[in-house]
Amino acid sequence: MSVEMVVERTLVMVKPDGVRRGLVGEIISRFEKKGFRIVGLKMLRMSRELAEKFYSVHRGKPFFNSLIDFITSGPVVAMVIEGDSAISVARLMIGSTDGREALPGTIRGDYALSKSENVVHASDSPESAAYEIGLLFSEDELA
Ligand code: ADP
Ligand code: MG
Repeated sequence: MSVEMVVERTLVMVKPDGVRRGLVGEIISRFEKKGFRIVGLKMLRMSRELAEKFYSVHRGKPFFNSLIDFITSGPVVAMVIEGDSAISVARLMIGSTDGREALPGTIRGDYALSKSENVVHASDSPESAAYEIGLLFSEDELA
């Protein structure tokens, strides 16, 4: 990570398992305490159409249909956070995809034991952050 400050926005989302398990406050709190500013926040239930766009890079993979079933199975809480190196730092904070491999101290490391139901999402690049924020938020919903 460079010494210069680069202010970025990224999309973080509490997945349906995280909402069902009552982890919304805990997850928001971690990003606030880290020093990020919440610039957008909403609860929504994804339609299949929206979910297929959101995860379009995974179309054709063996887990695609079960991923769409899972992510549309209940409400999610989506937020846009802003701060220095937000994209890479949020990825560090959520941990590896597979909860069994995610390090303790990361969100998945502390709260997930599965590769599919892993509590939280965060954009993995500037391109995916812009795409995912645009899909879930309009300009006037961002502070
Ligand atoms: P990440 O969410 O860490 O960016 P990926 O982009 O690889 O991970 O995958 C997106 C989501 O798809 C994962 O968070 C997980 O919910 C699901 N997923 C990924 N790989 C698998 C798999 N092999 N089996 C089941 N679900 C998976
Ligand atoms: Mg990903």
